[in-house]
Amino acid sequence: MSTHAELQVPSLGKVTVPVGIFINNEWSPSSFKETFATINPATGEKQLDFAHGSAADVDRAVKAARKAFKTTWGNNIAATERAAALNKLADLMERDSDKLAALESINSGKGVRIARDADVADSVACLRYYAGLADKFFGQTIPHFGKEKFVYTLHQPIGVCGQIIPWNYPLLMWAWKVAPALAAGCCVVMKPSELTPLTALVLCDLAKEAGIPAGVINTVPGLGATTGDAISRHMDIDKVAFTGSVVTGRRISIAAAESNLKKVTLELGGKSPMLVFDSADVEEAAAWTAMGIWFNSGQDCCASSRVYVQEGIYDKFLAALKKKAETVAIGQPHDEATSFGPLISAGQRDKVLGYIETGKKEGARVVTGGQKWPKSGGGFWIEPTILADTTLDMKVVQEEIFGPVIVAAKFKTEEEALELANTTSYGLAAAVFTNDARQATRITAALDAGTVWQNQYALLHAGVPFGGFKQSGIGRELGTYGLEAYTQVKAVHQNLTQTVEWPI
Ligand code: NAD
Repeated sequence: MSTHAELQVPSLGKVTVPVGIFINNEWSPSSFKETFATINPATGEKQLDFAHGSAADVDRAVKAARKAFKTTWGNNIAATERAAALNKLADLMERDSDKLAALESINSGKGVRIARDADVADSVACLRYYAGLADKFFGQTIPHFGKEKFVYTLHQPIGVCGQIIPWNYPLLMWAWKVAPALAAGCCVVMKPSELTPLTALVLCDLAKEAGIPAGVINTVPGLGATTGDAISRHMDIDKVAFTGSVVTGRRISIAAAESNLKKVTLELGGKSPMLVFDSADVEEAAAWTAMGIWFNSGQDCCASSRVYVQEGIYDKFLAALKKKAETVAIGQPHDEATSFGPLISAGQRDKVLGYIETGKKEGARVVTGGQKWPKSGGGFWIEPTILADTTLDMKVVQEEIFGPVIVAAKFKTEEEALELANTTSYGLAAAVFTNDARQATRITAALDAGTVWQNQYALLHAGVPFGGFKQSGIGRELGTYGLEAYTQVKAVHQNLTQTVEWPI
């Protein structure tokens, strides 16, 4: 099997792209010579064959990462130099942003404009944020021991980190994982999703061009049950960071516990509620809600997938949201005007259609959507969909659909709104829309969510922590918390003059 292949891309023509395994800054095929194929979500046609990394390939990647950690990275390089390398990589991503966006778009189905202006731009910003933080994140001095002793803490990199990422934001999730890890001094073994491995591999060549030493970033594409499991169970990986489903997050935790008790951070799913009170600006609330649920065609862990509206404005709000649904720019991913592309796979499309049918049987009212997009051809589009008049016991209210489907219901009181919002196993994000600042503060404090937006939705920033309460995850990404997750603290007791009497 070759490590590179040709791909026809609408805005680029025929390009040569990597499809192999990247270890020690070199490309290689899979040791067990297997491949897996990706499908173009807009056509349903096969796109590329990628190397399927075996446990032996993962082991080779871990050895390369460990060697780099002990020699060229980790504590062997100044934080300022790690920062410079991350900034250089960010520059190269910016230089190649059209190409990265086109490849992200053709592999994941998202609109190319969104891929460029959101996914690539936010990934660049994330790298630059952590480049800036790399040499400003250090330990404490603890001077409470008189003259005889001095105590300080060192923040040291955890070591070799496995990183397993999903298909909904392939580039951005790569940046959220790799940037803090490298800034902290860790070396990584990355496994992109088997549905969207393309840009993670293209970034390997950019990392090499940026001067990041061999073995610091290793990438092993492959399936979850083989490559992913080999990472989670590897005895010489110190930490695994994961974004994806709760089911897989649980499996990874178990594998980590059963092997070497490696540290685990998990960013899992959500069923994030919006609470819209009578005093809110209905049009504004509907616009934020629409962006929250239909951005990335609803394939977003913090999608605003439930909306609870106070009874006085329920009908008006639903009418406004319906209008937003029916004016979404659905289209082909390569079209600059498109903001709503196909779902990632036939399986995901069928799963979402299944939820819509379940919702109808459970008694939900379809306000709009609910069908495959008429012009979808062989692709996997589903119309923006609103299911109204839902109740807490419905499956469509409790389970993450991960598609363009929002469930709605009305409430009377604040207490009822909070009861509705907090009665799920998830706790990733939430929002409150009200003109009453005291009410916003009260509700925010009572919501079970790692992020709460007030009178807005879905805005993230590399400097602001992100992660879940309850089963939405363990730990935080982004901000200083995100860097902390790749460091461990060493307490150092420095003795200056103290002696000891023994036995005491
Ligand atoms: P998934 O959790 O199975 O896959 C995410 C990543 O985990 C992929 O790289 C996959 O190869 C890997 N993986 C799968 N099984 C593994 C295992 N046993 N050990 C180690 N790694 C493993 O997600 P999916 O199947 O692609 O999607 C299923 C559902 O997950 C979606 O419908 C959605 O609800 C949810 N999801 C959530 C997010 C998020 O951002 N929170 C992202 C993608 C999917």
